[in-house]
Amino acid sequence: MKIKAIHHAAVPLPSKIRNAVIDFSQMTFSLVVVESDIVQDGKPLYGFGFNSNGRYAQPGLIDERCIPRLISAEPHELTDAETGTIDPVRCGDVMMKNEKPGGHGERPVAIGTIDMALWDLVSKADGQPLYQHLARRFHVDEPNPEIYCYAAGGYYYPGKGLEQLREEIEGYLALGYRDVKMKIGGASLAEDITRIEAVLDVLGGDGSRLAVDANGRFDLPTALEYGKAMQSYGLMWYEEAGDPLDYQLQAALSANCSLPMATGENLFSMTDTRNLVRYAGMNPSRDYIQVDPALSYGLPEYLRMLDAISAYGWQPDRCIPHGGHQFTLHIAAA
Ligand code: MG
Repeated sequence: MKIKAIHHAAVPLPSKIRNAVIDFSQMTFSLVVVESDIVQDGKPLYGFGFNSNGRYAQPGLIDERCIPRLISAEPHELTDAETGTIDPVRCGDVMMKNEKPGGHGERPVAIGTIDMALWDLVSKADGQPLYQHLARRFHVDEPNPEIYCYAAGGYYYPGKGLEQLREEIEGYLALGYRDVKMKIGGASLAEDITRIEAVLDVLGGDGSRLAVDANGRFDLPTALEYGKAMQSYGLMWYEEAGDPLDYQLQAALSANCSLPMATGENLFSMTDTRNLVRYAGMNPSRDYIQVDPALSYGLPEYLRMLDAISAYGWQPDRCIPHGGHQFTLHIAAA
C-alpha cells in the first residue's frame, strides 16, 4: 500500500454565529484527501480528513512541510513492516521530522488533519469501521459503540432572542439529545443568566443536562462572578472560563466554584495536557478534558495524552473530545 498523492483545499465556512470571543464569518478549514494505490470496485481508495472546528485552514504547513515529507519518505518509513499497510503512527513521525519540540502553534492542526485522513484510509482498506480497526490495532478487548453525546449550540446570532434560543434547544431534544451546551460570556452576566434560565426551562429545570462554555473569555474575577451566579443551577460543566493556558486561573476557579470544570480544546500536545492536570486544579472524579485529536497532531498524540494523564488519576471516560466529528466518535468508541 502506497500514498500516491495528497490533495488539499482551504474551504470557507461562512456563518454568522459567534461565541464569546470569535465569530465564524471568516472561518475556513482544510480538507485533505489522501490517495492510495489501492483500487476497490474499480476506484482508487481515498482517505478524507478535515481540521475540525474553531481553527483556520493550514494550507501553508500542509503544503510546505507535511506533504513533501510524506511523499519523499521511503515506503518502509510509512508502512507496517508485517502487513505492508500504511501506518498513520509512522506517518506522524515522518511529518514531525526536523520539527523542534514545544511552540506547537497551529502545526498540530495541519498534522492532525492529515492523520484523520490516514486513519480513514487504513480502516477502509481494512474493511472495518474505524472504531473496530482502532480497537484491534491498539488491543482493546471490548470497544463500546454506545457513546455519550450532547448537542453543542446556544451560540449568539444577530437577532437571536430567548424565543429562538428556546426553539433551538427544543430542536435538539426532538432529535433525541438529552444534554445540551450553550455559549456564555458574549453578553452581560445578567443577560446570560436570563438565557441560561430560558434553556433550563426547556430542560425541565434540570441543570445537570446543561453545560455552559465561555470560550476562554473571562479574567479571574469575571470567571468567579459567573461561577457564583451559576453555582445553584448544578450545571453539567463550566467550560473554558479563562484563557486555556492560564492554569493558575483555572486552579483558583476550581477551588472556589463547585461546578464541574471542562477544558482542553485549545491544548494541542501531550505536554500541555499533562501540565493542565498537574497545575490547573482539575479534579479527575468531577471534571472533563476536551482535547480534539484533529487539532492536536491526531490520534498518536491523543494516545500519548491519555497515557500521561492516567498517572494523575484520569480515566479515558473523563475525556470528551471536542469537535463533534466522526473521527472523535470512533476514537471514543474504541
Ligand atoms: Mg468549547
